[in-house]
Amino acid sequence: MINATFEQFEHQFPTDDACKEFIVLQRWPDGVRCPRCNASERIYPRKGQSFRWTCKNKGCGERNGYSFSVDYGDHSSRIPKSLSKFGSRSAT
Ligand SMILES: [Zn+2]
Repeated sequence: MINATFEQFEHQFPTDDACKEFIVLQRWPDGVRCPRCNASERIYPRKGQSFRWTCKNKGCGERNGYSFSVDYGDHSSRIPKSLSKFGSRSAT
């Protein structure tokens, strides 16, 4: 399904949120993880910011929150480029 064209994508995910939800599931099928320390626990959604999380693990320097689009690494090729507009690039 990840290889669908953007038109198919738009048809299947009429809203941004539905689309983001899908991308989150593609990236973290077992739950959201911290891109910095890779922890899956003590990850909290940011207040007032949907699809953005904060890692509260000790020793992890992640304090500004991250979105699903940060640090794709090897997975970047699986995400259609046209969807990158949904991501924030602030967390580098
Ligand atoms: Zn972390």
